[in-house]
Amino acid sequence: MSSAPVVQLPAPTGLCATPSIPRDILRERGQREVFCGLTGIIWLHRKIQDAFFLVVGSRTCAHLLQSAAGVMVFAEPRFGTAIMEERDLAGLADANEELDSIVEQLLQRRPDIKMLFLVGSCPSEVIKLDLSRAATRLSAKHLPRVRVLSYSGSGIETTFTQGEDACLASLVPTLPAAKPGAAGDLLIVGSLPDIVEDQFKRLFAQLGIGRVDFLPARQSVTLPTVGPDTVFLLAQPFLADTARALEQRGARHLPAAFPFGAEGTTLWLQAAADHFGIDPQHFRAVVAPGRERAIRAIARSRETLAGKRVFFFPDSQLEIPLARFLARELAMIPVEVGTPYLHVQHLAPEMDLLPADARLSEGQDVDRQLARCRAEKPDLVVCGLGLANPLEAEGISTKWSIELVFSPVHGFDQAGDLAELFARPLMRRELLRFGT
Ligand code: SF4
Repeated sequence: MSSAPVVQLPAPTGLCATPSIPRDILRERGQREVFCGLTGIIWLHRKIQDAFFLVVGSRTCAHLLQSAAGVMVFAEPRFGTAIMEERDLAGLADANEELDSIVEQLLQRRPDIKMLFLVGSCPSEVIKLDLSRAATRLSAKHLPRVRVLSYSGSGIETTFTQGEDACLASLVPTLPAAKPGAAGDLLIVGSLPDIVEDQFKRLFAQLGIGRVDFLPARQSVTLPTVGPDTVFLLAQPFLADTARALEQRGARHLPAAFPFGAEGTTLWLQAAADHFGIDPQHFRAVVAPGRERAIRAIARSRETLAGKRVFFFPDSQLEIPLARFLARELAMIPVEVGTPYLHVQHLAPEMDLLPADARLSEGQDVDRQLARCRAEKPDLVVCGLGLANPLEAEGISTKWSIELVFSPVHGFDQAGDLAELFARPLMRRELLRFGT
């Protein structure tokens, strides 16, 4: 028998959209060190299998995509960059013509594309172009075969997970309207690996929640419907604009913790079960096997992580749910939990579960955060790629936060892998220490 940590099945609900525990939040407004929203294309192009992402950008954007996604480019990638050179306003008409002709060539060569995203970037010559107007013009030309949408992946004042938010928000106005009076649907919002999506589908079916859709859908031609009878659960904490757009279509958000770890997944499922009036005993019976599996799998990393101090730099917007998971299921001590943006309305259930003495910060001031981090001497730092190498050189173990967005980490069956992602850097440092 493993010595699994005791994680109580939470008492039915009370989750709401404002934290019940008041907290001081450190607001930082300084130098930032984050990737831009183009990064989201790496996982979105794998999820929406008939979509193409055409970045309208500079050579820098093309290099970023190429190097970030290089290993995943096979024969026919589903993203590319239309490079805009510097031009004055007088040249904009030509730029629009060029864009139309690139799109024409692309769609002729790739009949498999059913949805085309024009993805804006931050160079000034791109900002001058009105991509939403270009998308409307191109949609009018290519519908019904291809729908053309646009969103911004710009790195100005954003962080990398906002690319997915902007992409999904651009999809919302295109979702078909749900028939009034139809049985309420549950919409799961946020890009999940197919395997995780299938696991959740099975769990909702066992619970008796029949109509469950996912946004984004795997195929852009099977978009979910939305309307006043739709309720939605967020699978990711960085989807504020998408949530707002859904609410404008009449859908209602179910406040919940996020499905990371045994506890988070249970609470997330429970929010849906409570809404649909599922019998609590039936709920317990359905979730118990997955929850027990998760608890056992997490226990493998507990010995390495328990009692260790962890510091989160603001990067992915997953920081608060992950800190809650590490504190409550692995007995880690979060000394500082930084997040680029704090959507209190979506994170209230998580904030109530964080240890009261964990310092919460919103926004970035990298020098001040580095100073606090060095003073705290944490055992593990979760941060972006740019900070990881220098911190490793100073003898501090790090975990790249972007890896937590790329990897399947949601749900009961990924909980053990999620814990292991944090345990591995500490185990590696131990091995190096013994090796020297
Ligand atoms: S969108 Fe902006 S931040 Fe991102 S790669 Fe292009 S130029 Fe750089």
